[in-house]
Amino acid sequence: MPEVFNWHLGRPMEYAFEEAHPERQFAAVFNINRCIGCQTCTGACKATWTFSKGQEYMWWNNVETKPYGGYPHHWDMKILQQLDEAHQAGGREATWRSDDSSKYGIYEGMTITEAARDGEQALGYLPPDAEWTAPNFYEDTSTAYKGGPMGISLDGASLPEHQAWFFYLQRICNHCTYPACAAACPRKAIYKRPEDGIVLIDQARCRGYKKCVEQCPYKKSMYRGTTHTSEKCLACYPRVEGDDPLSEGVPMETRCMTVCPGKIRLNGLVEIGEDGTWVEDRQHPLYHLVQVEKIALPLYPQFGTEPNIYYIPPRWAPRSYLKQMFGPGVDEAIGRYTAPSRETLAVLQLFRTTQKMIFRYEIEEGPLVHETEVNGKPWSMYDDTIIGFDSKGGEVARLSVVEPLHERSKERLNSI
Ligand code: SF4
Ligand code: SF4
Repeated sequence: MPEVFNWHLGRPMEYAFEEAHPERQFAAVFNINRCIGCQTCTGACKATWTFSKGQEYMWWNNVETKPYGGYPHHWDMKILQQLDEAHQAGGREATWRSDDSSKYGIYEGMTITEAARDGEQALGYLPPDAEWTAPNFYEDTSTAYKGGPMGISLDGASLPEHQAWFFYLQRICNHCTYPACAAACPRKAIYKRPEDGIVLIDQARCRGYKKCVEQCPYKKSMYRGTTHTSEKCLACYPRVEGDDPLSEGVPMETRCMTVCPGKIRLNGLVEIGEDGTWVEDRQHPLYHLVQVEKIALPLYPQFGTEPNIYYIPPRWAPRSYLKQMFGPGVDEAIGRYTAPSRETLAVLQLFRTTQKMIFRYEIEEGPLVHETEVNGKPWSMYDDTIIGFDSKGGEVARLSVVEPLHERSKERLNSI
């Protein structure tokens, strides 16, 4: 197998195809701390793309409750278990080594492609039909901190210490840099677009062999019985292309992103260099959150597909669980999110302020409005104003850190 460089893992890895990268990559940051589990995103996606016959069980966007929930059921536990068995069989450990030159350290274990069985491109399994039912199985079921197979403890929890915990995990296709679905397809029906990195299934080429369903570790490719083909999230590409009538020719965020009442999602296109890393773009909000502040982390980076949806981890969940899910950057990410820098606090205001993708921001400095201590260290808050610009440089968002307070005039007071 050819070798490609995976910056999430800080090392080269085996992959089915030679290294090739798009000019720009569809990416997003999801702030788990703010999700209210309302499923508006899920409904918006369903109403747009998967409302037809044969798509009844298909949820390209789903929000599942961790630690127990999953769609399909237990998808992550199953693939983690396979990966664990492969490590045990090979006498290896899935550890990370710290290394200052890489973003999160160097992953010393095997990815799903490196642990693949003979004749396969990646580890995987085909979920039986029953596992695709009940998309939020175990909804809002909390678990105790102590005990259990993972030996979860309270250590490192930074919020008021809940004795029981859960959190929502919002999931769409990650439009991976090294998609396992594309590697698995014997028909070469899956491709990654050079202009925006969106991963699509060519419905005319697909013969429904379900190898993508089997080998996508995130289980985001789904089989449709009425057409005998597989389908997946297509990143609302007409919106990303600027073809939506509302978008005035500039790239727009996807449906699931723009409807979010929790304001947890920020979606955009980032510039990719020839080596696959993000080109420095200091005033891009995603670049700031992922590359500069590192408060948003990839989901299960150890799988090795280099997913492009990044998560701000929940502050209240046990760190051992989160580190398995988001890699070794969890402590630093939560620390920086809990006491955000002046710039980060302003950038966090941009979530869900416009349907148009923001390509650049500027900050106008405002007065100091609050001083306190966070985790024993002084922390200051400024009422700065952040301004977001679309791909053509037009202003599409302007927000202050302190939300303005509007007093209702007397004649508009409620009379009851
Ligand atoms: S998440 Fe799965 S379906 Fe989406 S690009 Fe990655 S491997 Fe393919
Ligand atoms: S719409 Fe937003 S807040 Fe509601 S479930 Fe989806 S991601 Fe969470």
